[in-house]
Amino acid sequence: MRSGCSDLQRHAGRLLVVGALATGLAWAALPAAGSRRESGWRQGVFPVVSFVAYTSHFGTRSGPWGRVEPHYGLDIAAPMGSPIRNWWGGTVQSVINDSTCGLGLVIRSGDYEHIYCHLSGRVSAGTYRSGPVQLRQGQPVRTGELIGHIGVSGRSTGPHLHWGMRHRGAWMDPAVVLRAMVRARQSGGGAVRSVAPSVPPAPSVAQSR
Ligand SMILES: [Zn+2]
Repeated sequence: MRSGCSDLQRHAGRLLVVGALATGLAWAALPAAGSRRESGWRQGVFPVVSFVAYTSHFGTRSGPWGRVEPHYGLDIAAPMGSPIRNWWGGTVQSVINDSTCGLGLVIRSGDYEHIYCHLSGRVSAGTYRSGPVQLRQGQPVRTGELIGHIGVSGRSTGPHLHWGMRHRGAWMDPAVVLRAMVRARQSGGGAVRSVAPSVPPAPSVAQSR
C-alpha cells in the first residue's frame, strides 16, 4: 500500500473533476434523520471533513524512485489532525500499525472493506486511540462516526488520508464509489439504477445510526 504524496502535481489534472464533486459531498453527506431506510449510495459519507485536494489517484503511478508501481487507493490531502469520518456503517475488521500504512483501520461493511491509512494518534494492545476515538477489532462503527484524525504515519510525505477499498476481496477505485454517491444525490432517490453498471451495489448492511 504505497501512499506517499511525492507525485502530487502529476495527477492533479485528472483528479480535478472528482475533487469538485467530493468537495460538495464533504459538506452534504451527513445522513439526515430518518434516512436509515434509504437504500443505494446516498448513505455514504465522504471520509475527509477538511478536504484540501486529491493528491494521488488509484492505479499505477511513478513511485518516489521513478518506478511504476500500483497504488491501491485514493490519497486525499487534509490538514494535520483534522477529522476522518467512517464512510459506511460496519465493523472494525483490523487495526493497522506498520511501516507503510502507518496507523490505520480496516472497516467491513457487507461485501466492502474500506481502509484508512497514515492516521495520527497511537496504537497499543490492538486499540487505535486518537482524541476521543478508541477503536479495536470487532467494534461496530456508525456511518459518519469520527474514526480518527489525519496524520503522516507510515510511508507518507505529507498529511493525507490514503483511502482504499475492496469489494469481495478485489481492490477497486474509491473514486468510482464517490461518483456513484454524487449521482445518487443528484437524482434525489435511492438511485442504484442511476449508477453506472460497472459499479457494484452499495453495501447492504443495516445502518446503526
Ligand atoms: Zn496512497
